[in-house]
Amino acid sequence: MFYKSTRNSSMKITSSQAIVKGISPDGGLFVPEEIPVFEINDIMNLGNLSYPERAAFVFSKFLTDFTKEEIKYCTESAYNKEKFSTEKITEISTLCNGVYILELWHGPTCAFKDMALQILPYLLTASVKKTNIDKEIIILVATSGDTGKAALEGFSDVPGTRIMVFYPENGVSPMQKLQMTTQDGENVTVCAVKGNFDNCQNGVKEIFTSHEITNKLKENKMMFSSANSINWGRLAPQIIYYISAYAELVRDNRITSGEKVNIVVPTGNFGNILAAYYAKKMGLPVNKLICASNKNKVLTDFINTGIYDRNRDFVTTISPSMDILISSNLERLLYIMNGYNDVQIKEWFGSLASSGKYEVSQSVKDMLNSEFYGGCCDDIQTMETIKRVYDEYSYTLDTHTAVAVSVYGDYKESTGDMTKTIIASTASPYKFSESVLEAITGKSSVSDEFEMIDRLYELSGYEIPKSLSELRTKKIRFFDNVSINEQKSYILNKLFKN
Ligand SMILES: *Cc1c(COP(=O)(O)O)cnc(C)c1O
Repeated sequence: MFYKSTRNSSMKITSSQAIVKGISPDGGLFVPEEIPVFEINDIMNLGNLSYPERAAFVFSKFLTDFTKEEIKYCTESAYNKEKFSTEKITEISTLCNGVYILELWHGPTCAFKDMALQILPYLLTASVKKTNIDKEIIILVATSGDTGKAALEGFSDVPGTRIMVFYPENGVSPMQKLQMTTQDGENVTVCAVKGNFDNCQNGVKEIFTSHEITNKLKENKMMFSSANSINWGRLAPQIIYYISAYAELVRDNRITSGEKVNIVVPTGNFGNILAAYYAKKMGLPVNKLICASNKNKVLTDFINTGIYDRNRDFVTTISPSMDILISSNLERLLYIMNGYNDVQIKEWFGSLASSGKYEVSQSVKDMLNSEFYGGCCDDIQTMETIKRVYDEYSYTLDTHTAVAVSVYGDYKESTGDMTKTIIASTASPYKFSESVLEAITGKSSVSDEFEMIDRLYELSGYEIPKSLSELRTKKIRFFDNVSINEQKSYILNKLFKN
């Protein structure tokens, strides 16, 4: 299996090359040239396997230049009891009849990003060896909060790599900030940017494609790669858990083999839901993909009108990891829906870059409508959902998953669709304890992060993740902050001074 760029269909590279490079030099994203298809029996057979074994099966279809042993080494090193608080790696809770919460946050940083970022360093290190690259890999990350910490945790002290993380100064939760600024490791740098996530991401994208910087790196035997979901090595691991969850639900007689399910995903950069789309195209019996947004509802509008328009105010919400107006992975979806037409993608994304807007063709609009449902909710509805679910089902949602549950409610009400449904739960409520507490108790708390965690424990009864409680006594190591146009000089300084 080879990979193309969404902006150059004649490109032909291996999966390891795609993973090392992260993003294509033409500004496009790497995608597999075709989508492998499973038989329903292949999926069923996964039910009795361990998570790393299920992962290895899915990877074997996409990473065809890796040996079986290499894949096995990667999946076993990433998905184990030392890194995750459950041997099953993910957990499935039943919210109510036919509605399942797929908990993707039992990894070291308590958000679903661990599902991919625990394995990416292994995939990347193997890819570097395989492609005979004798360079130090510099991982550049723009984060809306969770990717940064998950990437830092994954790459900390990984030989042959350095990692630099940029986060929006006022765009992450206090816990997320503390997680990043206390990160251990000799090869890590963390820096705040005076701007929002889109500013951070644009800065990083520009640096990636700047000839001046990439040449300078080359002279010094270094190269950039990406741990953002623009990297195929981030996306492929996310396909696995949808297939794994389905196999498990069939195994446990909660759905029947071949029965269609809806999948609801709280969405920002469109990575997680794109992975669900891939799973569907691979043969997973999926009815609707429900794309849930917060008040930054650029995707809701896009799915409903076919017009992508980022010319709107960026809103800061209580689900900060979804505060995004440029959803990078949409480029992959549109490329697939357009029959791998790179010319069309260049036109639309050129227009996005110049005017912040593009409109897709009628045939793509129709496809979007048949595959997806787009909905959104504001902070008040998010809070109400947390409260309602807590009262009715004794289940404590984080703010992001609550957006998904709220939008799913709207979907069910407007369509009457009773199809069984998997809701992707993307973070532990402890990561956003201030908002979750306020939602449940009706009072805003002014106490410190750790008192709030203790209080949330009393209310939810969920075990407090060790990785969060140990931040209590951890020293802050990183204090840097830069303005938007200083990201480049900051990186050059860090890499080449001293
Ligand atoms: C990153 C993140 C999201 C959004 O995921 P995308 O892949 O960017 O769409 C949702 N919830 C949480 C908690 C996240 O960290």
